Amino acid sequence: MFASLAERLQETFKKLRGKGRLTESDVNEALREVRLALLEADVNFKVVKDFIARIKERAVGQELLASLNPAQHVIKIVHEELTTLMGGSNSRINLAPKPPTVVMMVGLNGAGKTTTSAKLANLMRKQGRRPLMVAADVYRPAAIKQLEVLGGQLNLPVFSMGDQLEPVAIGLAAVESAAGAGRDMVIIDTAGRQEVNEELMAELENMKETIKPHEILLVVDAMTGQAAVSVAETFNSRLGLDGVVLTKLDGDTRGGAALSVRSVTGKPIKFVGVGEKLDALEPFHPERMAERILGMGDMLTLIEKAQENFNADQMAKMQKKLRSMEFTLEDFLDQLNQVKKLGPIEQVLSMIPGLGGNKKLKDLKVDEKELVFAEAIIKSMTPAERSDPERVLNGSRKRRIAKGSGTTVQEINRLLKQFEQTKKMMKQFIDMEKSLKKGGKML
Ligand code: GDP
Repeated sequence: MFASLAERLQETFKKLRGKGRLTESDVNEALREVRLALLEADVNFKVVKDFIARIKERAVGQELLASLNPAQHVIKIVHEELTTLMGGSNSRINLAPKPPTVVMMVGLNGAGKTTTSAKLANLMRKQGRRPLMVAADVYRPAAIKQLEVLGGQLNLPVFSMGDQLEPVAIGLAAVESAAGAGRDMVIIDTAGRQEVNEELMAELENMKETIKPHEILLVVDAMTGQAAVSVAETFNSRLGLDGVVLTKLDGDTRGGAALSVRSVTGKPIKFVGVGEKLDALEPFHPERMAERILGMGDMLTLIEKAQENFNADQMAKMQKKLRSMEFTLEDFLDQLNQVKKLGPIEQVLSMIPGLGGNKKLKDLKVDEKELVFAEAIIKSMTPAERSDPERVLNGSRKRRIAKGSGTTVQEINRLLKQFEQTKKMMKQFIDMEKSLKKGGKML
């Protein structure tokens, strides 16, 4: 996500870092590039203009002159302003003073509303809530069935009354049934339309008045760029949104919507969809996103994901091994299998500081086939080779292993490189975690 924006900004700042002292014209040149990069990323024109003006004011003034490392300082300012642009601190769902909390999911067809309803239910359950999903999208063929299937996959209940009743009637009945069924959150998948029209808005307004939801979340497709922002503007002016969910941020989106929604509508992005799977919904953290865009990585999200996916025992064992430098190739294989659970490996690696903008990432791709190779290679090694490959493995041993595993010396070298990278990354990971536990701050 944001690959080309991130690449361009990082390139700009690299140039800036290369200079010892910064003149006003260096800063202006860098900001011109930032401006172009943002426009190319499809960020709203006015948003870009204000953004650059704010940075300029801070970067060219006293603040910069007084700083010891001017390039770092400019990056810090851009980071702060990007964070503010995307919404300041992180937002949560408004909870009802007395359960159930009612969440109304609204949006146009195809934005990902039904999928997101299920993803949100899944996420809320992980946070200890007991959600009930409500199939009130009565106009899109198959939407009800879709939600029921997703509910089945998640093993979470779905309330439906077919497609003959008004969405508002279905919503009301669902809310009434929730308490009795021991559900403390009701997530209503409302009906969308192909495009914004009066009928849709009137229907949703009516639903809002009758059901009085605690939270109205608009689901928009990030891939549609500025169109997503204008949809958000319209929905917000009619319904008064509480927040926005940007979907398909895993795709080839240029990021413009993510950077403009807050500023144009005044409403925060609360969650982002980053894949088709039901666990691919993440709380949106503006600060972390800004870090990712600027190539500072996103260790916090990675650590949270790891904690969700690895069990505590495994983590503790691995940490002990790393600390005592006993992390071997066998552990590495284990690790590869674990890391796969975090999501596509490129996505995981892009969250690591310093690796995000790294073109060499391509070498680090792990796919199923490579895992099979890795296993074969490691199994063809002697215990001594496995525990200290760097010292023990020479050319003739590598040729023997290649023969034994049906691979090539090149593939063995690549695996060893990945092993070293992983070791480094795990160490970084653990150091970060330690400093977090101590209440330290990232970066
Ligand atoms: P609705 O009409 O708004 O209810 O849209 P759906 O929930 O049916 O989603 C439309 C399509 O978008 C489906 O194929 C979803 O799998 C896909 N989709 C939804 N969210 C995401 C996401 O975050 N990433 C990706 N890649 N696809 C998504």
